[in-house]
Amino acid sequence: MTEAYVTLITNDSYAKGALVLGQSLRNCATTKKLVVLLGYKPEPQLREALQKTFDELIEVSLMDSGDATRLALMARPELGITFTKLQCWTLTHYTKCVFMDADTLVVENIDDLFAREELSAAPDVGWPDMFNTGVFVFKPSMETYGKLMELAKSEGSFDGGDQGLLNSYFSDWSTTDISRHLPFVYNMAANLTYSYLPALLKFGTQVKVVHFLGSSKPWHFSYSSENDNVYGGSSSATDSNMFHTTKPFIRTWWKVFNHSVQPLFTQETVGETTQSTSVPSSGAPISSETGSTGPKGSFGDGVPRPATQDQWERGEVNYTGDDRFQNIQRHLDAMIYKNGNFY
Ligand code: UDP
Ligand code: MN
Repeated sequence: MTEAYVTLITNDSYAKGALVLGQSLRNCATTKKLVVLLGYKPEPQLREALQKTFDELIEVSLMDSGDATRLALMARPELGITFTKLQCWTLTHYTKCVFMDADTLVVENIDDLFAREELSAAPDVGWPDMFNTGVFVFKPSMETYGKLMELAKSEGSFDGGDQGLLNSYFSDWSTTDISRHLPFVYNMAANLTYSYLPALLKFGTQVKVVHFLGSSKPWHFSYSSENDNVYGGSSSATDSNMFHTTKPFIRTWWKVFNHSVQPLFTQETVGETTQSTSVPSSGAPISSETGSTGPKGSFGDGVPRPATQDQWERGEVNYTGDDRFQNIQRHLDAMIYKNGNFY
């Protein structure tokens, strides 16, 4: 029985995301295989980094003129990415898989997801009777794949993406079996947490998977490990409430990038990462990058905890105190430093 995490990339930006995702899964000591579906041809150096991170690189094409089903889909170019993602069902050399968007980040081991049945997923924040397709458990099967293609042909996707199509196909998800509803912490929409701040403050430290859905991705920001800060491309982006609550998660994404992805490259740049390398220390030695997060050796069993940490974990949250987001950041740091053996 072979089980795998599967992601998809069609360009260098998402490749960066996939590298962080893959390394974050490894840092959390997954025992599963890691697979990346390649919808384009990355440069050799990037391919090498992907090979170091993933067990299998599987080339997929958006359209293939030799295939009747795919030909039919060619009349619907907006389904291109949808079609590509659905090819995960063709990975029949695996018995069960978890698909994860390339813009997700794992902060705690989630191998328990493989005990779930197809199709398990978390509610979508925009329309909670639907599931979000950033993280889902599925069972590869050519039969299911064929049926999905049929549905794509006959009805298309009501939102033009994979999410619409998969929700149409697995339409009983919201009513039939509660065990197929993944808890939100397995697919937490980082950029929407500001809309329910008390919930973020109460549950933020239980998050296992962060999903950077929407148009702003972590790789659009820069990170300075000198002062442990995240910078946006425009001031309107970094001034917003949304940015404020998303910041701890973007920071964590960059820490994984700097510690676990950057060393995979001999040069300092990856695709479009010149943004990050213009920041003073993104290529600096690991020891200096972690200086701002605590004394060396203080994580792991000796995770530094604020006096209020126990209260925090009991759910007694100070909603107005200065430490609102620091506790979440501290927890995220403790998780990734422990899991990633950064010291
Ligand atoms: N994707 C890709 N290239 C693209 C767009 C999307 O490889 O140009 C893949 C990637 O795995 C991504 C997933 O499709 O995570 C879904 O897209 P995205 O995460 O941007 O959608 P959102 O979660 O923001 O709705
Ligand atoms: Mn996504």
